[in-house]
Amino acid sequence: MIYRSTRSSDISFRPSEAVLKGIAPDGGLFVPEKIPALPLDPAGDAELTYRECAFRIMRLFLDDYGDERMKSFVEKAYSGNFDSTDTVPFRKADNAFFMELWHGPTMAFKDMALQILPYFMTAAASLNGESTETVILTATSGDTGKAALAGFADVPGTRIIVFYPKNGVSLVQERQMITQKGDNTCVIGIHGNFDDAQRGVKEMFGDETLNSALGSSGFRFSSANSINIGRLVPQIVYYVYSYLHLVKTGEIKPGDGINVAVPTGNFGNILAAYYAREMGLPVKKLICASNKNRVLYDFFSTGTYDRNREFYVTSSPSMDILVSSNLERLIFHIAGNDCGKCADLMKQLAEKGSYSIDSGMEERLSMFYGGFADEEATSEEIKTLYNNSGYVADTHTAVASSVLRKYREETGDGTPAVIASTASPFKFAPAVLKAIAPEKYVEDPFRCVDGLSALSGLKVPPQIDEIRDPVIRHDKVCDPGTMPDAVRTFLGVK
Ligand SMILES: *Cc1c(COP(=O)(O)O)cnc(C)c1O
Repeated sequence: MIYRSTRSSDISFRPSEAVLKGIAPDGGLFVPEKIPALPLDPAGDAELTYRECAFRIMRLFLDDYGDERMKSFVEKAYSGNFDSTDTVPFRKADNAFFMELWHGPTMAFKDMALQILPYFMTAAASLNGESTETVILTATSGDTGKAALAGFADVPGTRIIVFYPKNGVSLVQERQMITQKGDNTCVIGIHGNFDDAQRGVKEMFGDETLNSALGSSGFRFSSANSINIGRLVPQIVYYVYSYLHLVKTGEIKPGDGINVAVPTGNFGNILAAYYAREMGLPVKKLICASNKNRVLYDFFSTGTYDRNREFYVTSSPSMDILVSSNLERLIFHIAGNDCGKCADLMKQLAEKGSYSIDSGMEERLSMFYGGFADEEATSEEIKTLYNNSGYVADTHTAVASSVLRKYREETGDGTPAVIASTASPFKFAPAVLKAIAPEKYVEDPFRCVDGLSALSGLKVPPQIDEIRDPVIRHDKVCDPGTMPDAVRTFLGVK
């Protein structure tokens, strides 16, 4: 498999090189030259385990690792570290299938990719004769940071630096990060929002002075953000697996269509669903759900992407994003894999903060439905789900569920629908409890955790108990402009 850039045609890399680099040298994103066909048959392969399914899909996209390595990575990443024997369990509730992607160590769907990425990354370094140490540089809207830290902590030959918006993540998210163990880890809050953090990280990737200073000290940047194909590919797996699950449990017949609803921020998770569909998975609609930061909803309804707007901090912070980086890949594909056109639109985005696609491109978006749920609709949905079926959804999952409900009301489309359930409700307990039982809500997030547990009968996850009395290991805060200095300090680079 060859990877090319979304912005110029003369770039071509093997998968492991693309994993290592994270982002193409021209600032574009890596895209597979050709999307492979589904390597399984839903009728005969419905009984595949998650790990078998993962192996079959990922070996196609990341073929230069070799089957033996891939098999061992899959075994190590998806066996012991998930609290469910199926890795991804499903719950049928209120006429939808909740695909629970949060049974990994950090209780958010980011673990699905970040538990395996460190294996891809370290093997890529040795496959490509890299002797420098990999410095993972990451901006997080809350969940990526912890999941990346959990994946990379104490992995030899790597360092990891995480920037998060100091006042833009939940208390549980922040505590999970600032208590991270491992000498190779560094967590820094910034005065600004997620987009500031993401921009700062992108600038450091392109900063030649900084990169050469790092190089002379034996370091090299790489990215664990969702733009890395090593993040994207593992996410394709669970959409295929969800289809097999519905066949296995008799909910659909092989070949039947399904719809998929995804709570969306950086457009990584739903892009993986798009790739699964391009591989031939019978997905009819890709339902892209935004929160009050509805830049994607506006894009799907008008054909114009415009980041010049107010930024809101919401109860679903991992979706509080105005520049959805992975959308660039979709733009490239709907432009007919035209990198010139894509580069031009991305230039407009960088220069004036907006761009519009032409009608030909818009026609190729027909498999998408964009919707949004504001704070009230999200809270209402959490309550409705709980009252109708006893299902406790976190705020992000509720956004998707709310948009799916609206889609069904609007269209009457009763196609079986899978909802990507992206976080444990305990990670966002205050908002969840407030929605279900406002009279039980209190200020202290940990008492909300206990209240939610008492009300729902669900057990408090051990990961939450561990951070009740935290030992804080990271307390640095900086302005976006001084992010490079913070990096130099941590690495001891002048
Ligand atoms: C990251 C995240 C999302 C958004 O996923 P994207 O790939 O950025 O679109 C949704 N929900 C949760 C809980 C997340 O952590």
